[in-house]
Amino acid sequence: MKSKVYFIKAHSREDAKVLSDKAEKAFLATGLTKKIDEDDFVALKIHFGEKNNTGHIRAPWINGIIRRVKERTERAFLAETSTLYTGSRSNAVDHVRLAWSHGFTPRAVEDLPILITDGLLGGDFEEVKVKAGTLRSAKIASGIVRSDALVCLSHLTGHVLSGVGGAIKNLGMGCAARPGKLEQHAVLHPRVNAKACRNCGMCLEFCPTGAIVQAEGHAVIDDAKCIGCGECLIACKKGAVKFRWDEDAARVQEKMAEYARAVQTLFKGKIAFLNFALRITKDCDCMATSRPAIVEDVGILSSTDPVALDQASADLVLERAGKDVFRKGYDIDWAAQLRYGEKIGLGRTAYDLIELD
Ligand code: SF4
Ligand code: SF4
Repeated sequence: MKSKVYFIKAHSREDAKVLSDKAEKAFLATGLTKKIDEDDFVALKIHFGEKNNTGHIRAPWINGIIRRVKERTERAFLAETSTLYTGSRSNAVDHVRLAWSHGFTPRAVEDLPILITDGLLGGDFEEVKVKAGTLRSAKIASGIVRSDALVCLSHLTGHVLSGVGGAIKNLGMGCAARPGKLEQHAVLHPRVNAKACRNCGMCLEFCPTGAIVQAEGHAVIDDAKCIGCGECLIACKKGAVKFRWDEDAARVQEKMAEYARAVQTLFKGKIAFLNFALRITKDCDCMATSRPAIVEDVGILSSTDPVALDQASADLVLERAGKDVFRKGYDIDWAAQLRYGEKIGLGRTAYDLIELD
């Protein structure tokens, strides 16, 4: 059996209206609109980008999708959750202001409200049973749990912990409340290589929990305070911070897939996924910087199967680049999330690619 993945070529340089029309076409192909009932609460899960990030999905690109959803129900909203790390998105008030500053104003998004679905401080969640895998339950944002349908809008990027960030990451990590994100990151154990460390202090500035101190001529990480966010790994230009890539990265991906499965089961088929494979960067949109693209733009993909969608998206990127640009960024076996996702019933890695025009 293969899952259907729809694909439409696109480039971020195209006019926003053209991109919106293409995204709308990809969305309609999933068939979700026919399943949305009047008065359904529909969450359009999106990432607004960290402050100063420029890679995120743009508000005008999703106008066509919003209009189609609004034809079915007036109760649609843009959904996000708070970040684990401190920053401009760690509470609902700052987060909504940031979304506005990145162009997601009511006027720009057809008057759709923005809801930070895990509450003011990221602590509002419900335990959702995980039907497969090692976790018994997942701590999912209450606003997501209480919704009737979900449109998962993801910007495809590389990622410091999962190698690739697409639909599975947006669903699993992105729909988790802060305690759920913490649970997924908790398996990470960064260490500082004393010989490589130059004691520059940069990682101390980035660490959101004050887990790093300078001692004995190099940085040292206090496990008791570390939340496994990976910020120090990105901050260190000397490559002195190390994870156990094979074990830690694979385990994070597995937990993420289990969380994604928990969210997926909530919606009983009223769920669709779109990946925007445009402005693909080495890191995700949580980075507070503008980063160069690592490959030419590919297009917009959609599916009702998040595993097939991420597999097809990555395959197209690798084909376009002629090499594995994700592994060039971080030497992580990013396909672990796909293999494990398939194992626990999240979706299939086999797909039929249907090109739309
Ligand atoms: S950023 Fe790297 S080199 Fe600088 S103190 Fe931290 S671990 Fe050491
Ligand atoms: S992963 Fe690094 S930056 Fe994040 S909490 Fe742990 S020590 Fe601090």
